[in-house]
Amino acid sequence: MSAAAAIDPRDVSECQSCGACCGHSTAWPRFSLESDDELALIPAALVAEDLSGMRCDGNRCAALSGEIGKAVTCRVYAVRPIVCRDCLPGDDACQMARAAAGMGKWGEPSG
Ligand code: SF4
Ligand code: SF4
Repeated sequence: MSAAAAIDPRDVSECQSCGACCGHSTAWPRFSLESDDELALIPAALVAEDLSGMRCDGNRCAALSGEIGKAVTCRVYAVRPIVCRDCLPGDDACQMARAAAGMGKWGEPSG
């Protein structure tokens, strides 16, 4: 069995030392099918002026704390947008974001 296959693709623990998808693009943390009630739970200061998604500083979502590739947390994790919930470690969007950030593929040994 390969190292990649041994990792549960839904195991998000590696995200805490990554955060590449959260700093990938202003178009990333956009809102989609969230209800008004769900969106109301996200602090207004972290929402884009045009209300299209999360506010970004450069390409980086304003809700992201920490250093990408080292240690990160999402400050609105419990109420994060659907696109963030749908991105799973190891899926295509994850791998694209990691590659863009100059990081190795998820699930493959870094050394
Ligand atoms: S790019 Fe992948 S591993 Fe990194 S935080 Fe996003 S989902 Fe997690
Ligand atoms: S809301 Fe959280 S999970 Fe979504 S992009 Fe921002 S920091 Fe990442």
